[in-house]
Order: sequence, then structure tokens, then C-alpha cells
Amino acid sequence: MRVITLEEHFWTGALRDANRALLAGRLTGELADNLIDLGPRRLADMDEAGIDVQVISVTAPAAQELDPKTSVALSRDANDQLAEAVAAHPGRFAGFATLPTPDPEAAAAELERTVTGLGFKGALINGHTGGRFLDDPAFWPIFERADALGVPVYLHPTYPTATVMEAYYAGFEAPVSATLATSGWGWHVETGLHVLRLVLAGVFDRFPGLQIIVGHMGENLPFSLARADERLTPVATGLKRTVGDYIRENVYITTAGYFTDPPLLCALTVLGADRIMFSVDYPFSSNARARAWLDAAPLSGADREKIAHGNAERLLGL
Ligand code: MN
Repeated sequence: MRVITLEEHFWTGALRDANRALLAGRLTGELADNLIDLGPRRLADMDEAGIDVQVISVTAPAAQELDPKTSVALSRDANDQLAEAVAAHPGRFAGFATLPTPDPEAAAAELERTVTGLGFKGALINGHTGGRFLDDPAFWPIFERADALGVPVYLHPTYPTATVMEAYYAGFEAPVSATLATSGWGWHVETGLHVLRLVLAGVFDRFPGLQIIVGHMGENLPFSLARADERLTPVATGLKRTVGDYIRENVYITTAGYFTDPPLLCALTVLGADRIMFSVDYPFSSNARARAWLDAAPLSGADREKIAHGNAERLLGL
């Protein structure tokens, strides 16, 4: 069975250094070494676990918290480095662009350059930019370009702003607060909320063909969709469709970081196997653990094939 994964990360030395203050000592040691490698180390781990293709993107916060000029330069540099690796291993690697979101027009141009010039499959955006979510119309040139190019945007979590950190996550030992705010809970509620904000702002009425991908088994959307649907009715929102319709027709989810059956069964029931794609979140999650779970998950043969590779092949043209 061919296996494709879509939320797999790297970074460049320049982005690592530029984000040093924000990362505050996170992502060091072996993790840092795995992130910077786009060659033998990554391929050996994929081979061992039975991962055929990684669609690779820059890890959060990428170039989104830098001044616009630096963001444009370091995004371009990262995309060019990734394109070189994809060219060196065309059957094994593919790319999602990193975008200089502090300058949305430049971000739209970089998306076009990377898709038409470098063969990238879309973009991955890490949550808010300086506290502004993508429902802000200033960012819509990015969606307009993605829609025109026919490529998806992967919406990935990032670190919360200081205000959110203080209001929602403070009050515990620093490492506990930091994890609660990110991979332990906060990343996932914030990213699910971010998708709802796109729906409520009318992004999908303006760009009906646009496809958004979210990781982590749907960032809590499958579990709470019926409630949102019931409360945020078209009468209340003024939108053309129900919230659930937008989520089922404009959103794909991946399994990145979530390798247990209960949330998978929930996502299958709510969204269906055509909207779910296998992913790992390398190097933060284990390729081997994820692949072992995929093989054992309670899926029909046909659904396992869709989730492992079929949906990604169709959506990304792989
Ligand atoms: Mn990730």
C-alpha cells in the first residue's frame, strides 16, 4: 500500500535563528537535527516505517512573525531549499510553500511562484500572524490565489499570542502552561476555531472551490460540528450554507499526531473517508508508530487505501 503523509516538517538555519527568541529553547537536540535534514536521515526513517512520500513544510512559526521584508526573503530561501530537496528525491518528497503572511500580497505571489515554478502542491500557513487570523480580509489575496491555482491551504497551529497565553494558559509551572497552550490542548482548539472563523467570515462563499486542510484529526471540528451547526444557523450567520456543509465540502483533515481509534471513528462518521488523509507530523511524532496504527485501525480495505494515499493523490495530483 502506497503511503503519503502531508504534515511533515523541516526548517532552515536562517528561520531557526530568526525565531530563536519566540521559540524560547523549544526544538533543540535531536529534534533540531531532524528538522534541518532533507536527505538521508529523513529518508531512512521513512523507509523503516513504510512511508513512501512526505509533503514537507516549514515548522511553526515559519516566517510569520518576522518583519515583512525579512519574512519575504526567508520564505523564498526556505522554499528554494525545499524545492532542491524535492528535485533530488522526486518520488519521495513534495512541497507545501511557506508564505510571508506579514505581507499578504507578497505571500500570494510566493504561492504562485512556488506552485507554477517549483511544482509545490499548495501552502501551509501556521495559524495567526501577529494575532490576526486569516478571516481578516487583508489575507484574502492568499485564498484568491490558492483558489485560482487550484491548490489547498494547510492550516496548521502556531504559538499563541502573549495575551491569549496569559488569559487562558497561565497559572501553572511554566512547562505545563507552555504545553497546555500548544500541543497539549491549545493548538487544537485554536485551529478548529480558526476554521470556523473562515466559515463565518464568508471565505467559502467568496471562494467556493477553496480547500483547507487541517491536521490533528480535524482540530476538534468533527466532535463539535453538530453543536456548531445547531447554534450557528444560516439565519444567524447570513451565510449561504450551514456550517457543517462548509466543513464537509471545503475542509480535509489529516491524522497528524492523532493515532488512536476513537477520534478516527468520530471523523469517519461526521466527515467520511473521502475527507481524511493519513499524516504523521514528523519529526514531532513517530513515523513507525503512526504507520503501525494505520495498518491496525478499524477501516475497510477501500477506506484504508483512500486515507493512506488515494485522497492525497486526488487532491494534490501526486
Ligand atoms: Mn505539525
